[in-house]
Amino acid sequence: MERKEPLQGRMNTRESSQSLQSKSLQLAQRMRALEPSATLAMAARASAMAAAGMNVVDLSVGEPDFPTPFHICQAAEAAIRSGKTKYTPAAGIPDLRKAVAADYTRRTGLAVTPAQVVVSNGAKHSLHNAFTAVLNEGDEVIVPTPFWVSYAELIKLAGAKPVLLSTRIEDDFKLRPQALRAAITPATRMLLLCTPSNPTGVVYSADELKALADIAIEADLAVVSDEIYDQLVFDGQKAVSFPTLRPGLEARTVVVAGVSKTYSMTGWRIGWTICPEPLAKAIGNLQSQETSNPCSVSQHAAVAALTGPQECVAEMCRAFEKRRDLVAARLSSLPGVRLPRIGGAFYAFFDIAPALAKGKNGITTSMQWCEALLEQEHVALVAGSAFGAEGHVRMSFAASEEKLGEGLDRIARFLGA
Ligand code: PMP
Ligand code: GLU
Repeated sequence: MERKEPLQGRMNTRESSQSLQSKSLQLAQRMRALEPSATLAMAARASAMAAAGMNVVDLSVGEPDFPTPFHICQAAEAAIRSGKTKYTPAAGIPDLRKAVAADYTRRTGLAVTPAQVVVSNGAKHSLHNAFTAVLNEGDEVIVPTPFWVSYAELIKLAGAKPVLLSTRIEDDFKLRPQALRAAITPATRMLLLCTPSNPTGVVYSADELKALADIAIEADLAVVSDEIYDQLVFDGQKAVSFPTLRPGLEARTVVVAGVSKTYSMTGWRIGWTICPEPLAKAIGNLQSQETSNPCSVSQHAAVAALTGPQECVAEMCRAFEKRRDLVAARLSSLPGVRLPRIGGAFYAFFDIAPALAKGKNGITTSMQWCEALLEQEHVALVAGSAFGAEGHVRMSFAASEEKLGEGLDRIARFLGA
């Protein structure tokens, strides 16, 4: 296979700026070290290989493989037919803000109002809004690693500094209270949490989160709680929403969520923040200048998702749980492979350090390992280094059991198992 660019398209913008002809178009300082999203780059690479006729098993991107439920698509169609195709209020249509607030209150017991909800172009945009609206130049944000690829870049774009705090596989990659306490400096402004976690699939218990919440309160930190996988939790458990854990936490927390994962609506680009009203108003203003409203048709589809039948969510969750069982059993039976207890989302984040330590064929990094796996076995995973955890790789199990079985057979062969 001809390789045109380094693995996962990680040519950063500094390199790309060097090929610009005119000095006048030199990139801004803030763009110089910006990395492209490794997950999206790997997915693009896998689909290019598939388009070239290769039998690729793409387990790179975290995207449900189910179609968007039909009743949601019908609502979008009805919205188009009835002319709901114009600008909407920048922070979202009232029906959707109302539906998000009602759904959140129903599931968590915490009363929130529609005015606390801002609807954005996907949860990634919601995160960008939250960081931009709250962080000042030089503020530190504590981000436990492994972390989802976009956090660090979005925090840097907001002028702040991500402080990456590593966690251990022995602790199921959960941030321990002592580690959090030790990392706090006078510049620390925010703590970022993601449970169920991308990339590890690990779910924090209420008690574990309470211990972190107490420190956040003590140190007067803002918290961004990424709860986009909140409905994809296994083993009869339920995710707990961070602001529900201690009185007053809602005054310092921005909850980020959306329809992308829960309703298999990744392409519709609808996410939201839930936060105190004055901040929500500021985020709405920011959005009114930056992007205006999220797609009107998608907003109407999202109303149908939240207010319509919910069996589709339970069904998809059951399918992911079954796949989790399959993937966890197979991976942990492979020589030298370790992984944490996967309680939700659709990722397996496993340790390949023993394989890297052998240095077979000169492969000593997770990036080289993924590259070789893609070239030899045509299986696409994402290197742990993209998530701030070298020595590991991430597999998305948002794929059919058949595809997963094939991918796992090829990974086993690659590992010499
Ligand atoms: N947060 C996490 C943890 C994610 O995995 C994703 C995946 N895309 C997002 C946010 C962004 O979601 P969206 O597709 O709605 O922008
Ligand atoms: N969140 C998904 C992932 O981690 C989708 C890709 C992205 O938005 O980066 O694979």
